[in-house]
Amino acid sequence: MSQIMIRSPKNVLQRCYFPLTQIRTKKQTAGVDSLRERNKQRYWRFPKTNTDTRQVFDYFLVLDFEATCLENEKIGVQEIIEFPCIKVNAITLEPEAVFHQYVMPTVNPQLSDFCTKLTGITQEMVEGQCNFKETLKHFSKWIQEQGCATNRSAFVTSGDWDLKILLPKQCHHEGVDMPNYFASWINIKQAFADATGQYPRGIIDMMTRLNLKHCGRLHSGLDDCRNLTKILQKLAFEGFVFHKTGFLWKS
Ligand code: AMP
Ligand code: MG
Repeated sequence: MSQIMIRSPKNVLQRCYFPLTQIRTKKQTAGVDSLRERNKQRYWRFPKTNTDTRQVFDYFLVLDFEATCLENEKIGVQEIIEFPCIKVNAITLEPEAVFHQYVMPTVNPQLSDFCTKLTGITQEMVEGQCNFKETLKHFSKWIQEQGCATNRSAFVTSGDWDLKILLPKQCHHEGVDMPNYFASWINIKQAFADATGQYPRGIIDMMTRLNLKHCGRLHSGLDDCRNLTKILQKLAFEGFVFHKTGFLWKS
């Protein structure tokens, strides 16, 4: 492994370790024409000198739902039980605000032992909390107050499941309109793959490869958001420019 010094936008030198084989010379990269390949090479060719790469958004909204679940069994209607979102300033890359609510499920109000073990969310944590409809209203109010219900902000999720499957299905089941601002997002796993050439298995995999320390508990929605924020920051510090990767085509 080689040690590479990377200069972050705050002019703080950070140590990062990458396999030497990933670093390519100009000669080796000549003639490669796909965009993904070029992105991949740009990311691996450290040290980087241009640190003022601008993002195309003003804010990132890092989101990671937790939902009711059973072990090795599909659940009829999966319901959101934790709704966290971290607003990250796309210029400073610092978190500026947090939305966080546990949500009382109504179709399956009793959490399975497996679900509690997986997510750390106990029955007491959801009991007496707002239901999905009320939580969605609170979130809509928050996102308006934060000035983030515009196309200058982009949701960031790990995979497509949160906004492509879970939320639309629950909105449909509850008979509520899904707000338009949820109709597109950045799948950070795809962004990671575009940046490095390797599609990651999940949060731990991305953090390991980026030499970041995982904090808190995996499958806790808020901790997952915090760790996703670290991955986002790291990729952005390296000069990766994020673009939306997922879209819902609403009729
Ligand atoms: P995650 O975003 O990976 O923390 O997971 C989101 C949700 O997916 C969890 O709250 C569960 O509902 C479901 N889930 C994740 N992993 C599993 C698993 N191994 N078995 C069943 N459901 C899971
Ligand atoms: Mg999670």
